[in-house]
Amino acid sequence: MTLPQPRVLQKLDGAPWEIDPYLKTGGYDAWRKCLKDLTPADVVGEIKKAGLRGRGGAGFPTGIKWDKVLNHRVQERYFVCNAGEHEPGTFKDRHLLKHIPHQLIEGCLIASRTVNAKASYIYVNHEYEEEEANLRKAIAQARERGLLGKNILGTGVDLDLEVFSGHGSYVAGEETAMLESMQGRPAMPRQKPPFYPTDFGLYGKPTLVNNVETLCNIPQILKNGAAWFTQVGTEKCPGTMLFSLSGSVNRPGVYEMPMGVTIRDLIETCGGGVPNGRKIKAVFPGGPAFSMVTADQLDLPMDFDSLKKAGTGLGSAGTIVIDDATCMVAATLKYSNFFKGESCGQCPPCRMGTINLATLVEKIERGEGSQKDLDSLLQLCGFVKGTGYCTLITGAAVLVQSSLRLFQHEFEEHIRLQRCPFQPAHTGAGA
Ligand code: NAD
Repeated sequence: MTLPQPRVLQKLDGAPWEIDPYLKTGGYDAWRKCLKDLTPADVVGEIKKAGLRGRGGAGFPTGIKWDKVLNHRVQERYFVCNAGEHEPGTFKDRHLLKHIPHQLIEGCLIASRTVNAKASYIYVNHEYEEEEANLRKAIAQARERGLLGKNILGTGVDLDLEVFSGHGSYVAGEETAMLESMQGRPAMPRQKPPFYPTDFGLYGKPTLVNNVETLCNIPQILKNGAAWFTQVGTEKCPGTMLFSLSGSVNRPGVYEMPMGVTIRDLIETCGGGVPNGRKIKAVFPGGPAFSMVTADQLDLPMDFDSLKKAGTGLGSAGTIVIDDATCMVAATLKYSNFFKGESCGQCPPCRMGTINLATLVEKIERGEGSQKDLDSLLQLCGFVKGTGYCTLITGAAVLVQSSLRLFQHEFEEHIRLQRCPFQPAHTGAGA
């Protein structure tokens, strides 16, 4: 399969990209440009022109974030690359860490230098052991070539990157929980608005936090220009996106496609369709914390705005395909249990809500539920949605609401038969 050009995130398979091949294809050229020719304002201007939006899940405009830190009145600033990926069904940052560590390092150096960070870190989910080791090796290579460390390339600039072995929980990937844990405190989110990390980050100072994929886009934008970057994608979501495709597809994997690719194209062109002649029953386009779509919605374009308009979301593009042999109550239970296990317990509605949601879904799946339990599930979703310092409980509620909206008949069937009609209960092949 050939991917549409331009490919922003080059070489997504094969052996880890060592420094020499990376340098041969213009690697670190953007970094050299930043050291010698471009001012921080030039860099931010180009990123704004490119319209790059954060790839961690929320799609916040990257240029605005960088601008806020660059122009902050407080001069002590920090930079953190968030590689705390832990969304079910999302594994694209892991892929980038493994295959293009130098492109990430280059993006981090540019980000750090642009906001004049006092110290710069890459926070890695500690379960990504092999990728972390690979990243450390790549940083050592870059240091040997004088691309980071003291007096970089003879310019007098000193800048280093430190790898922080992270927590490895879902919540620890939430940026404020990540910053808390980096300061030796429990990995629990802070209340965000109005205190975003751009104002109140590491040690209470302005901090630029960006996702791995976002940063991997930076060298390419600066090397090729914003106009090159915007050749693909949609007007409001330019560029490509890395889709982690899993579940019931013939070829699960990580695929770089233009923003706005349809769900159908992703599943059929990249994933080779659904195996064993089965039919698609539902798709989580952006992971289980956003509403599912059904087989009649496969022509929806996958970008932040189109999916939001359709009542769901792109998130970090962890696309999970569910086939018609799957029990939707069992599938809902699988992810409800994930959210229950990952709640940090700080906010009472989340601590209790995730437990109660999973308990009720489990009761129905076991064939012990009643209509009253169904009503309680819906009511509970309404109560807890939007509460909590992070989006975990909202995601857990949206999952159940979406499943009930689209597959209420399956829940009712469990209640009527007093057992799971799918024997044995099949949860689908998703993450
Ligand atoms: P958010 O909308 O609160 O913020 C997104 C980013 O923009 C953050 O970095 C935030 O600091 C920044 N921001 C937002 N408004 C700002 C402002 N006014 N000033 C300065 N900065 C501002 O979203 P979030 O809670 O950080 O992330 C939620 C998303 O994370 C979910 O949509 C989910 O898809 C995703 N997620 C991803 C993973 C993963 O493993 N990749 C895991 C869990 C959740």
